Amino acid sequence: MTNLKKRDCGGCTVCCTELKVDTPEFRKKPQVPCQHLTAKGCGIYETRFPICREFLCGWRLFADLNDGWRPDRSGVVIVRLSPDNVPPDYRAPGYGMQLDIVGGEAAITRPGFAEYVAAQVKRGVAVQMSAASPATLVNAHLDPATVARDMAGTRATLLRIFAMLHAARWKKGIGMLVPLYRLKLAQQKAMVTKAGKG
Ligand code: SF4
Ligand code: SF4
Repeated sequence: MTNLKKRDCGGCTVCCTELKVDTPEFRKKPQVPCQHLTAKGCGIYETRFPICREFLCGWRLFADLNDGWRPDRSGVVIVRLSPDNVPPDYRAPGYGMQLDIVGGEAAITRPGFAEYVAAQVKRGVAVQMSAASPATLVNAHLDPATVARDMAGTRATLLRIFAMLHAARWKKGIGMLVPLYRLKLAQQKAMVTKAGKG
């Protein structure tokens, strides 16, 4: 269950660099620091754009995430997804989440990361992951039975997904097709396995 905690950002400014913004008042590309970002935080804080006032990352929203999950500490920006933005099979919980991995492999191996993802998958919450790359639906790679009994296997699968996403991130043009194809293949394999078990 989500719980609107609404913590303060403190010293974190990760979303001001990592996220894409596309609103009438303000646009910025992902993985590029906002032009208004300074060493002391937002340089136009009092007059910042509506999206900047309204946006709350998952760490600010979900009470079950402790202080170690603040994005500048965890290397993960969690964005809450509305039910319309998740596949129909995963709409029952009323929301989904996108995990943008900005801290590399260390973010995946950090204690508590795999356990948190496993808990969401067990509850049927759609979990998408990206690493400055196209996103993939983690649930398609991990079935609830696996995450319930095999945390080491769950962590290894999450690392494999991250490696594929990371490869997709850096390849340009036609070279990007190979990792994306592998990603799709792995996703299809996971879905076939899941269907076979059902
Ligand atoms: S990522 Fe979250 S905690 Fe960090 S600045 Fe953005 S909203 Fe605040
Ligand atoms: S305007 Fe300020 S709050 Fe908004 S993205 Fe830029 S630095 Fe961050």
